[in-house]
Amino acid sequence: MITASLEARTPAVATPALPDWRELWRQSITDPQELLRRLDLEHLADRLPASDAGFPLRVPPGYLARIRPADPTDPLLLQVLPQLAELDETEGYRLDPVGDMPALASHGVLHKYQGRALLIASGSCAIHCRYCFRRHFPYAEETAAAGQWQEAVDYLRGDQSISELLLSGGDPLSLSNAKLAQLTPQLAGLPHLKRLRIHTRLPAVLPERVDAGLLEWLEALPLQKVVVLHVNHPREISPEVDAACARLRAVGVTLLNQAVLLRGVNDDADILAELSETLMACGVLPYYLHQLDQVRGAAHFEVDDARALALIEALRGRLPGYLVPRLVREVAGDPAKRPLN
Ligand SMILES: *Cc1c(COP(=O)(O)O)cnc(C)c1O
Ligand code: SF4
Repeated sequence: MITASLEARTPAVATPALPDWRELWRQSITDPQELLRRLDLEHLADRLPASDAGFPLRVPPGYLARIRPADPTDPLLLQVLPQLAELDETEGYRLDPVGDMPALASHGVLHKYQGRALLIASGSCAIHCRYCFRRHFPYAEETAAAGQWQEAVDYLRGDQSISELLLSGGDPLSLSNAKLAQLTPQLAGLPHLKRLRIHTRLPAVLPERVDAGLLEWLEALPLQKVVVLHVNHPREISPEVDAACARLRAVGVTLLNQAVLLRGVNDDADILAELSETLMACGVLPYYLHQLDQVRGAAHFEVDDARALALIEALRGRLPGYLVPRLVREVAGDPAKRPLN
């Protein structure tokens, strides 16, 4: 079988001996009390919500190590710690804020925009971001990989206008290399496809995922490859993350970043400027800065539009144009992400 031989071949790119990412994944913290204990924040235990609102805590060990202990306002901690405010019902905040369910074109395929189709490749993530717009998405039923990709690939074959395939999720790199490799012969049967784009938070939160098998799969794909990272704060970028970016670039991947504008995390011109500079130092260009999707349980992260625009203006005043991300909002039914300015 193709997948087995791909896994077994010698890697084309030299990679240092990395710890097994699946083992690190298993070591993730899932108990909020334990997270607080590990960060010397036990006194906050009575501020935890009684329920996780169906979206459990998950933090891999490498990300935990980047959170500053004893600081309840740490911007990395705020992205993962369940808060009482999540249980508030805020007007306008919905279960499916961006209209994913009506846009499902086939099993696990979202086709909203001209030329681009998105596969919900996997329902798993190595980290659970409290502001996630898909925190209520019915992943168990709607992932493309669940059916060996076949139904999704049939859909792509039937529409010649699709030149770019996006893998999203969940996190598509939560799939094994063997599972991803099943896509190779399937994609080869789609002559109208030019690019594969992978939207993933894994290289930033569990950089060990960028292992020899993944690099080999990417390098061998006869398509242009784009990886869109998701980093919200410069402190998320450790030397290990930088090294993972270098490995991806070495196999010809174009690296972009999307961030979400989050109150208390990165709603600050200095932080956003530093984020752009740090990304650039890793060979990653800022792509989008997203206004928060209004998903139920995330209202406490909202930054209003006037402030968001002022932040972008401030960035424009001090960074080269290519390091200023495009400030956008996803509006259900629109033909593309909507620019705010
Ligand atoms: C955001 C998104 C895309 C990608 O949009 P770009 O502007 O090309 O980055 C494609 N498909 C779906 C369903 C999306 O939500
Ligand atoms: S990694 Fe992405 S999909 Fe997963 S919880 Fe975070 S924002 Fe959502």
